[in-house]
This record gives sequence, structure tokens and C-alpha cells, in this order.
Amino acid sequence: MTSPSQVLPASAGKPTGPNADPKEIDKFSELAHHWWDPNSEFKPLHDLNPLRLGWIDGIAGLAGKKVVDIGCGGGILSESMARLGANVRGIDLSTKALRVADLHSLESGVAVNYEEIAAEALAAREPGSVDVVTCMEMLEHVPDPASIVQACATLVRPGGHVFVSTINRNLKAYLMAVVGAEYILQMLPRGTHDYEKFITPSEMARFARNAGLDLVEMRGMTYNPLSQIYSLSRDTDVNYMMAFRRVAE
Ligand code: SAH
Repeated sequence: MTSPSQVLPASAGKPTGPNADPKEIDKFSELAHHWWDPNSEFKPLHDLNPLRLGWIDGIAGLAGKKVVDIGCGGGILSESMARLGANVRGIDLSTKALRVADLHSLESGVAVNYEEIAAEALAAREPGSVDVVTCMEMLEHVPDPASIVQACATLVRPGGHVFVSTINRNLKAYLMAVVGAEYILQMLPRGTHDYEKFITPSEMARFARNAGLDLVEMRGMTYNPLSQIYSLSRDTDVNYMMAFRRVAE
């Protein structure tokens, strides 16, 4: 007879820190070998990347900056920021995603330091130590997003920038990001997103305010299913990004 431990994924039951959902980490680990395939489940991240990269660079000026990318996965954003001259560290709790990220960085020759550590633990170890923190498409996968936003604020130096992106929570977001993307267009595997965990911009702004971060700018990223192109917009109903600045002391 098969024992339960034999049917569970390798990482199941591994301590992932208090603010992580092991099922979410496993989900990304299982797909990790597809991370750099632009036609895989990760296509939306590849398609979004030039937009978010340009926006972040326009606000923070990445060249020469010390950056931490929280929930970096296979490193799509991390590597692209390093290509612009930033000194980037990527952290995640998926061992497999980090292994893919490391291998890709070796192959591409774009240096990024990857580490398996929780955001809260890194913030406690190295408070106020970086110029820019990014945390994209990750907060909707964690049990306590406010705690991650607090960790971003602790990690960044006074006057430094924090960038987050996630999915809004309303009927349109449910129809586009869950029904449309997972069921109709099948861009994403079913169960990728849990509607309950989506975060409204006002909730995000509150998390940030409570952590001592000032809102600098907010942008929507809208997807046109016909052209299959994302563009930056004022429409924050579904995918959106926010830029914050840590209040200078
Ligand atoms: N930020 C990347 C990847 C987004 S996919 C990008 O936008 O390109 C979401 C990532 O968040 C996955 O790699 C997953 O392993 C990671 N993740 C989920 N919960 C996490 C947690 N609690 N702490 C750190 N990483 C987490």
C-alpha cells in the first residue's frame, strides 16, 4: 500500500515559514521547469514583463541600485532588472523555482543572487538595506499579504521604493482572471488563482500606509484577448501595480 508520504509532492510538509501556503508553493514548484518557456503557463508573466520593467525603471532608475525581488519564481523580472544594471537578489520559497532561476542565470550570464528565505526573515536580518523592493504577482498567493508588505517596508531604506502587483477583487476581475484566463482562454491552469485572495487597491494602500509607505503611482495592466497584448492603463479593475516610497526619516 502507498503511504501518504509517497503520494505527496517532494516539498509537501516542508516547513515554509509561518506566512506561506505549502499548496501554493507546490503548485509553482510543479510547473517550475516551464518557467522560461514563453508559451507555457508562465506566458502572462513573460508578456507583462517589459511593461512592468519599464514602469519600475522609470520611477526608481534601476542602474546601480540594490534590489530585492520577493517571490521571484524562475527569475523573469529579477534577470531583466539585472540586465538594466541593478544588483538583484531574488527570494522565493519554492526550491525548484529557485533552481530553475539559478540555472537560467548561469546560461544567460546575467548575475542574480537567489536565496530561499521568507520575506519577513530577510527583512529582520537586513532591515533598511536595499534601494528597491519588488513583489509582483505573489501577494494573492500568501495567507497574510499585509505581513509581506510590512516586510517590504522594513527591507527598503528610507526614501527607497517598493513595487507590488496583484489582482483586484470584483466581478470583472473574477470573470477575466479566473473564468476567462483559466476556463475560457485556458491561459492558466485551473486553480491558479483563488478569488478570495485577490486584493483591492484600497486594501493594498492600507497595508502600505500601516507599514510607513507612501503611494507614488498606480497603474492598471489590461489584457486584450484578441491581440493577446497587455498594455499599461488607468484601468485597475483587474491586474494592477502600485509604487510606494518609504517615508524618509
Ligand atoms: N514574481 C514573479 C513570479 C510570480 S509567480 C513574476 O512576477 O515573474 C508567484 C511566486 O510566488 C512563485 O514563485 C511562488 O513560489 C512564490 N510564492 C508564493 N508564496 C510565497 C511566499 N509566501 N513567500 C515567497 N514566495 C512565495
